[in-house]
Amino acid sequence: MKKIIIAIDGYSSCGKSTLAKGLAKALHLAYLDTGAMYRAVTLYLLNNNIDYNDLDAVAAALQQVSIHFERIHGQNHTFLNDVDVETEIRSMHVSEHVSPVSAISMVRKAMVQQQKAFGKRRNIVADGRDIGTVVFPDADLKIFLVADADVRTSRRHLELASKGIDAEWDDIYKNLTERDQIDSSRADSPLRKADDATVLDNTLLSEEEQLAITLEWVRLVRSEE
Ligand code: C5P
Repeated sequence: MKKIIIAIDGYSSCGKSTLAKGLAKALHLAYLDTGAMYRAVTLYLLNNNIDYNDLDAVAAALQQVSIHFERIHGQNHTFLNDVDVETEIRSMHVSEHVSPVSAISMVRKAMVQQQKAFGKRRNIVADGRDIGTVVFPDADLKIFLVADADVRTSRRHLELASKGIDAEWDDIYKNLTERDQIDSSRADSPLRKADDATVLDNTLLSEEEQLAITLEWVRLVRSEE
């Protein structure tokens, strides 16, 4: 069967990674979590007290950052310089700084280069903010996820709690809406729906329902080829 690339973009905590993981499992695709890469760079800058407004320092830091993924007990883990940082990168502290770091063109250039290389030979599903517009503009299927901000906050609250991360509902709401604002208004590859992406509002949908809908879209895309 022909190689397939599925691009999922959307606002923060819309359930992009849940859907992406579901599609990856059902279709035996590799999963690329591009948000984890921006989070790992942010963690590196924070851990090393590097001011991200100092572009020379950011350039030097990028030379020191190596990111890879490993499957551990069926779960995706992000490694920063060979250290498993999967839990740390989800912290509120990283969430509070990741959008300004992601707005830096030099950071995006370095990440997008690695993401494109990841998609070269594999069947993949990737999620992020610029997958359908910049990283994989020729993706076979582009999905733009949207959901009500209160519902997104509650989902994120539950997800963090399940990981043992304690955070206030109001702080999560503020963080999500602030990130959406920065991600959508930055000059370099702002978050936007690709012209050929299909919108899926999952506010009232279960994980199973979303998966069923999008698997049908994949079937249609494949039957057209
Ligand atoms: O997907 P996640 O919420 O983990 O992404 C964290 C942040 O990384 C986003 O708020 C955004 O600032 C940035 N990001 C991005 N481009 C991507 C993926 C994530 O700018 N492709």
